[in-house]
Amino acid sequence: MGESFGAGRGSAAWLKVSRGSDQPLDRGSRCPCGGLPSGASLGECCAPVIEGERLAPTAEALMRSRYTAYALADGDHLHRTWHPRTRPAGVDPEPWVRWVGLEVLDVVDGEAGQDAGVVEFRARWVAGEGRTRQRGEVHERSAFARRAGRWFYVGPEPSDP
Ligand SMILES: [Zn+2]
Repeated sequence: MGESFGAGRGSAAWLKVSRGSDQPLDRGSRCPCGGLPSGASLGECCAPVIEGERLAPTAEALMRSRYTAYALADGDHLHRTWHPRTRPAGVDPEPWVRWVGLEVLDVVDGEAGQDAGVVEFRARWVAGEGRTRQRGEVHERSAFARRAGRWFYVGPEPSDP
C-alpha cells in the first residue's frame, strides 16, 4: 500500500511538511502549488483561501490550497478543510520535509455548483541534506465534498482492484 494523504498520522508522507525552507515565501512569490492559472503568485492563488479571505470555488482550488498549507506548515487550514466525518483529531505537520512540487493529473467534477469531486495529483517532497537526502512523492486520487457552500477534503479514493 502506498502512502496516502488520508491514512492518518504516522503513515502519511503528506503529513510531513517544510517549515525551515531556505526560501521564505511572500505573497508575490510563485504559489507553491504551481499556481492556478500556472505561475500565479501565492497572493493571487492559495493565500486568500488559506487565510479565509475567500472560499475555494472548486475542489481543485481547495486541493491546491491544502498542498500549499502543507508546504507552509499551516495545520489550521488543513484541519478546517478536512471533512468532519474523516478528519483526524489533530493535523500535525512535521517540519523536516520540504514539499517541492505539485502536479494535478486529473480532475473529475468538483466545479462550483457541484457537491462532489475527485482530484488526482502527485506531490513531491525532499528531506534531509547531503548524503542523507531523501526524495519521495505522494500520489493520490482525493475525494472532495461540498457542504454549506464549502469544499472539504474527504479522503483518498479506493484504488482500482
Ligand atoms: Zn496555489
